[in-house]
Amino acid sequence: MIPFNKPPVTGNEITYIEQAIASPKLSGDGFYAKKCENLLEGITGSPKALLTPSCTHALELAALLIDIQPGDEVIMPSYTFVSTANAFVLRGARIVFVDVRPDTMNIDEEKIEAAITKKTKVIVPVHYAGVACEMDKIMALATKYNLYVIEDAAQGLMSNYKGKALGAIGHLSAISFHETKNYTSGGEGGVLLINDNQFVERAEILREKGTNRSQFFKGMVDKYTWVDMGSSMLPSEIQSAYLYAQLESADKINHTRLNIWQEYNRALSEFEQAGLITLPHVPDHCQHNAHMFYVKFNSEVDRAHFIDYMKQQDILTVFHYLPLHSTAAGKRYSTFNGEDNHTTQESEKLVRLPLYYNMTESELNTVVTHLRHYLSQQVGV
Ligand SMILES: *Cc1c(COP(=O)(O)O)cnc(C)c1O
Repeated sequence: MIPFNKPPVTGNEITYIEQAIASPKLSGDGFYAKKCENLLEGITGSPKALLTPSCTHALELAALLIDIQPGDEVIMPSYTFVSTANAFVLRGARIVFVDVRPDTMNIDEEKIEAAITKKTKVIVPVHYAGVACEMDKIMALATKYNLYVIEDAAQGLMSNYKGKALGAIGHLSAISFHETKNYTSGGEGGVLLINDNQFVERAEILREKGTNRSQFFKGMVDKYTWVDMGSSMLPSEIQSAYLYAQLESADKINHTRLNIWQEYNRALSEFEQAGLITLPHVPDHCQHNAHMFYVKFNSEVDRAHFIDYMKQQDILTVFHYLPLHSTAAGKRYSTFNGEDNHTTQESEKLVRLPLYYNMTESELNTVVTHLRHYLSQQVGV
């Protein structure tokens, strides 16, 4: 059986976890957490990285930091994971969805301005598959209307837009270290990147249960107390130790994933030319991180047929994101601004192929062989 994903393992995880266990501090903001945050600041160029238990937590922290109030409006694509919306729904916001571009599945930057009202507080671009949204346009709109930009860069570590790392462009950004992402902190994890210094001090307080504990540890205050609202949003040293083993091999993991991605792209391009499928589009000014390789069939029926065939070959391919505006919660908490020309239609055609760091050459060859066999048969149909 070839799974759709295997959590990445580099080999050093156990060593670092053992060291963490042997150290006197196993709770958050320890030795490995600091090392990870330093690496993340180095990789992205963001001035401040704060590890969180998940990307969901990082998004929730971001919503708290920009002080979302009931009735505020938040603009985002409907083709995304639930956490992108929930982080703001938890604060009473109304979600306003905008259509995606069919070529990248990212929010259509040309449709955002029409969705902006007096209540709009923030735009949340989601960099789908680690391919950047049109950030120049989005940041210009934010400046024009005095809005915040929170990047959902869950899938975007090691990608860039016009030379700038994803996650380092908006005021705040959230990255995921869930086991399905390119780098994991042992199954669950995330980081908040703070690119606007005004948020740093309060972020440290909200993340430390609303106390000034981190200032206490820095020697800035002589005792720590309750100073604000807050929650517990620090991963343990076990998680950070796992993550450190991944981040120190970031280039190697990235390179390996890009090679698999290129292999799929090469093997499938003739079938795109034959009109059977559409392959992912990466704009020239975007460097991606091979977070996923997806294929779009011409219809939902064609996709189902393909998934079935692959399953019979013991290969798991999956699709995701029932557009949020069509879900039960989506009907309560959101509106779709403008026409849904692409979101639903494109989401029904998309399927993801197995792609993981520890994928063997033989696994990749098996998948490619079955893919090509299946598609060759369809050409004749
Ligand atoms: C994975 C993902 C999340 C959530 O990440 P967690 O770390 O599992 O909380 C949020 N948004 C997007 C776009 C994702 O892909």
